[in-house]
Amino acid sequence: MVRAKYVRFSFTGYLVVLISVMFIITVILSFKLLTIDQCNCLVPDIVKYGIRPTTKLISSKHRLAVLVPYRERFEELLEFVPYIHNFLNNQQISYNIFILNQVDAYRFNRASLINIGFLHTKHDFDYIAMHDVDLLPLNSNLSYAYPKQPFHLAAPDLHPKYHYSKFIGGILLINREHFEIVNGLSNRYWGWGLEDDEFYVRLKDAHLNVTRPENISTGVNNTFRHIHGKDRKRDTTKCFNQREVTRKRDRQTGLHDVRYNILGYKNLEINGAPATIINIQLICNHTATPWCDCSPQKSAKV
Ligand code: UDP
Ligand code: MN
Repeated sequence: MVRAKYVRFSFTGYLVVLISVMFIITVILSFKLLTIDQCNCLVPDIVKYGIRPTTKLISSKHRLAVLVPYRERFEELLEFVPYIHNFLNNQQISYNIFILNQVDAYRFNRASLINIGFLHTKHDFDYIAMHDVDLLPLNSNLSYAYPKQPFHLAAPDLHPKYHYSKFIGGILLINREHFEIVNGLSNRYWGWGLEDDEFYVRLKDAHLNVTRPENISTGVNNTFRHIHGKDRKRDTTKCFNQREVTRKRDRQTGLHDVRYNILGYKNLEINGAPATIINIQLICNHTATPWCDCSPQKSAKV
């Protein structure tokens, strides 16, 4: 009798211990799985952009998307990607390079490409560099750190070619919040020029101060290298009422209404430096901006 009672108690005891052990193991295992998922934060980015950890230990907590408007500048691209990769690694910047490759038949639209690059990276990056493919920073004091205010790196007193005081082209760093406040860049600028001047007015209207590098003593000749190929003609054609419209501040278009298709992503590596190419097909509203196509047949209809 006593013995039977002892055996029954012991069996229940074992059962309780077994259930408790299984419970503890389950808790430990699920905690471990959770920890792996949470810490392996780069997984979705690798799938999307092919992001790989940079070679150096990164101290910066903000992430930079280098947005490069691009079409048919392969020679420049081959130089740009490895160069900027090393430059940013030396500054311990956490970044990715995105080549915004315009693949449609319309005239080049630098501003719309940057808007699209921003829309596609804003969830994973805290600030952007609008970066010409042919402008290489030479002075290591040119900082690509997170900008509290829009930071114009290719300042007029440092850029090899453009020296007017309101110039903000070439290389401009801006944080995500500020780029959104001004609704990005205007989409009306097809062909070369003026989209950056219009953006300057957007920043001014939003009371954002453009800051520039200080204490750089290398001047206009030795601060940047402009690797703009000699045979690269700038598309300065004006057709329809382009001249008139693009001289004015655009209060309508920008981030929220840029129209396009993404035709694909490709990850490439140049001398060990990774970059992501985004193939972008822009869509033109021919009624609003007929000058997206200035070919003689189109322009003759005016
Ligand atoms: N760009 C391009 N293909 C073009 C025109 C422009 O890739 O056909 C890009 C490229 O990043 C270039 C930038 O737009 O650096 C500015 O154009 P460009 O160099 O012609 O202007 P610049 O500042 O030299 O007057
Ligand atoms: Mn150039």
